[in-house]
Amino acid sequence: MNMEDFNLEKTRQETSLEKLSKDTIELNESERNASLANIEKGDKLDDKTLPDEMVVNAVRRACKFFGIPEVPIVNAHGACVWPNDTRTYNDDVFGFNREQLMSLGISGEDSLTLIYTHECAHRTLQGAYNDAWEEELACDYFAGIHAGMKGMNIDNFEASLGSTPGGDTHPNGALRAEFIEYGKQVAQEMKAHGIEPTYENCLEYLNKHIEGKGGLIKEYRNRFDANVSSKTLTEANNIGMASESSDISFGSKYSDAEISKMKSDVDRAQNEVTARRNDVSNWESKVSLNDTKEHRANGDYSHAVSKLNEAKSRYNHAVDELNSAKRKLNSAM
Ligand SMILES: [Zn+2]
Repeated sequence: MNMEDFNLEKTRQETSLEKLSKDTIELNESERNASLANIEKGDKLDDKTLPDEMVVNAVRRACKFFGIPEVPIVNAHGACVWPNDTRTYNDDVFGFNREQLMSLGISGEDSLTLIYTHECAHRTLQGAYNDAWEEELACDYFAGIHAGMKGMNIDNFEASLGSTPGGDTHPNGALRAEFIEYGKQVAQEMKAHGIEPTYENCLEYLNKHIEGKGGLIKEYRNRFDANVSSKTLTEANNIGMASESSDISFGSKYSDAEISKMKSDVDRAQNEVTARRNDVSNWESKVSLNDTKEHRANGDYSHAVSKLNEAKSRYNHAVDELNSAKRKLNSAM
């Protein structure tokens, strides 16, 4: 398939702009002043504060790059994507968090476009890599490809990601920067040789690179594991002290798949509540229909009442399940 040309059924869904501006954390005055103070000469305020319009444009450019449908953006714990049903692109949902991206130092529409190119790559890669680090590096690589094809400046994007410490689900910044650079280089070389970049030939280069960098990836992973054990030791020596979160990589400590599972549990529980609520309404109307002398006499009325009570207790149980699924998802985010 040809990037940009290959169009899956493009059902463009309305981007929830209104929801985005409502849900997005508003900057309070001191934050606004702080971000104003950070603006260097020649920098635009819009670049630093990532207004909604810029977010929507960035998402549109990223989706268009892969030729996949635009899907809603909702406020979340960070920039992320929920693939939901992995057989379709149409039910995917993007997460956005202005505070997180600003604290990462993301500035300007190009950088934001590369962030969402990374997230779109997750949408297209679903399940292609068993290893979380490899999938993240693949997404960073595609951001590099996009930048290389369109001549976007990757400095801000690369510096922002390059400063992240990494963890179980995300590799460290240095490794990520390496794959961003490589993607850009591949796109530029293809351009120079008149080769049309396609999803397939880009993947081929990527997989060779992952193989070639296997030793480096392993080395970083070992280093990370060593850091984790020394960190655990420090924490043990500081019992009673809350440790500051160092989780500034994309996403939360849960993998996209785990979050996606929790989200689908909430959806399922929500559907169950709706169905049980309908049962309650049905039996309520049957009770009122049977509230006649005749039906009271033949037992229809009391039958309906006991069915209504049964339906109510099923409904209450479904609500409990929904609340617990929501609590689980909320604490994960
Ligand atoms: Zn990612």
